[in-house]
Amino acid sequence: MGADKILPPGSTIGILGGGQLGRMTATAAARLGYRCIVFAPEAHSVAADVAAGHVRGTYDDTTALARFALQTDVITYEFENVPEAAVTECLRHRPVRPGVRPIHIAQHRLREKEFFRGLGIGTADYQPIRSAADVAGATALPGILKTCTEGYDGKGQARVVTRDELAAAWEKLGRRECILEALVDFQCEVSAIVARGLDGTTRCFPIGLNDHRDGILRTTTVPSGLPAGTLATAERFGVDLARGLDLVGLVALEMFVTRDGQVLANEMAPRPHNSGHWTIDACATSQFEQLVRAICGLPLGPVDVLAPSRMENLIGDEANDWQHYVAEPAARLHLYGKGKARPGRKMGHVTYVLQT
Ligand code: AMP
Repeated sequence: MGADKILPPGSTIGILGGGQLGRMTATAAARLGYRCIVFAPEAHSVAADVAAGHVRGTYDDTTALARFALQTDVITYEFENVPEAAVTECLRHRPVRPGVRPIHIAQHRLREKEFFRGLGIGTADYQPIRSAADVAGATALPGILKTCTEGYDGKGQARVVTRDELAAAWEKLGRRECILEALVDFQCEVSAIVARGLDGTTRCFPIGLNDHRDGILRTTTVPSGLPAGTLATAERFGVDLARGLDLVGLVALEMFVTRDGQVLANEMAPRPHNSGHWTIDACATSQFEQLVRAICGLPLGPVDVLAPSRMENLIGDEANDWQHYVAEPAARLHLYGKGKARPGRKMGHVTYVLQT
């Protein structure tokens, strides 16, 4: 790679989005001597709290986006629902890594599943639900009906067993364009987080074993204890995805492992992922540092596991127990500096670094 492509420490990284992922990215960037400027609509952004600057604006405010972009050397985003037009506006001024295409695909569940299949990445059976005729002819039952856009953490979804239930659920979701996915009888859920550098090098973090409750991630455990063959498939799917997207940055791929050991992709996020938070305390390079390295053209860091770990999310008022966690020697506490603990809101996490 030419040295001209490297953005050296001292350069400025722009982050679209003001949440905890931006906050942890800015913290990792600062450690390597980079500055971060956050673009976020909210008056109080937990990412801006730890960054060099905050440009406040809505994602359709092209003037504010341009003002933001011109203060940076490279731009990334910390959530995949950032409007495509906002990324395109930034791209007029500065490189945006991982770019427009990954969010174009990730923002639409049907497009995403088709993209996986096109790369040879296995998925559950699925079918589009766009009309009453699609409902009447549905075969992927029992299944989960999901809106194609704007669903996250289990929102915009319904479990359905019969066609009548499907019809009622589709009505309830406002007859919006949906995907019906066959219910997977999984043994566990895993994720691969893959970094791809400016020179095309890829590196996959060790696969995390994820436990969800009510559609929200609760814990990630590494090592996962799964057989080597399963881990190799999960890693291959992640790497194929990063290459297929031709991205520079990070992509997380969430997958199911079925009872007979098949690996099926569920969804992706082209950004740091909640299931990679353990890397801050228990991996040679954190996912946030890896993102900074990738988008600034630095070599990717090693991904060796330093110690077995279990990350637990602190959701809603669970973060009120911070005194308990700070007193525990094995617990590494991370609080996101959010004001009010609402039910379901991710307030922090704790990583238990286990002694071997
Ligand atoms: P999602 O919003 O697609 O990430 O789904 C949230 C959670 O719902 C997943 O992590 C799974 O625990 C569960 N889930 C989603 N899709 C399926 C499926 N097709 N079969 C079984 N469980 C699913």
